[in-house]
Amino acid sequence: MLPPGARQPPLLLRVYGILKNVPNFKGTVTTMTEQLWAPWRLPYILAAERHNGCIFCDFPAQAESCDEQNLLLYRGNTGFIILNAFPYSNGHLMVVPFRHTDTLETYGDNELLEIMSLQRLAFRLLRKVMNPEAFNGGLNIGRAAGAGITGHLHWHIVPRWNGDTNFMTVVNDVRVVPESLQAVYTRLKAALPEVLSEANNGLEINEKKS
Ligand SMILES: [Zn+2]
Repeated sequence: MLPPGARQPPLLLRVYGILKNVPNFKGTVTTMTEQLWAPWRLPYILAAERHNGCIFCDFPAQAESCDEQNLLLYRGNTGFIILNAFPYSNGHLMVVPFRHTDTLETYGDNELLEIMSLQRLAFRLLRKVMNPEAFNGGLNIGRAAGAGITGHLHWHIVPRWNGDTNFMTVVNDVRVVPESLQAVYTRLKAALPEVLSEANNGLEINEKKS
């Protein structure tokens, strides 16, 4: 059952998905569509559109006591790391600059440096806690490129494991995210101090100590 307004995946992908579950199928299926087609994210997109304002501005503006509820994991100097509430996979993080803009060209050098620095921190954290086999990551600018929240740029970091989604979503609209968001948040938050202490090796000029 697809969410209202969601489209069926292309026929070829549905056929691939069925074939992939056949024991002797030797094909490989690693298309961009596999990563990007995620119908369960539609409620997230609609909720974000209904939200009065911008969650990426509102969440860090709230007291730090709200961070757990908002899944906000780490506050830097010019941006923050947050769990995606409607993840592509277990441990899906986002790096978000504090400043509200949909145009990458308006960021200053200090903001761009910290965006990468925060992504490095997110990668270290995920490797330590979740031991992923691979990652998807990057930036979607504009609705046509797949951005759910279009007004405020944010970078995705999606840990992957062999067979993690395995086309279950595309074929059956079943999302395979086995661990609760709150449990993932708790595990990542608990590991942060250790990861930060390992990271501060003198080369990392822009990483806030906490
Ligand atoms: Zn914003």
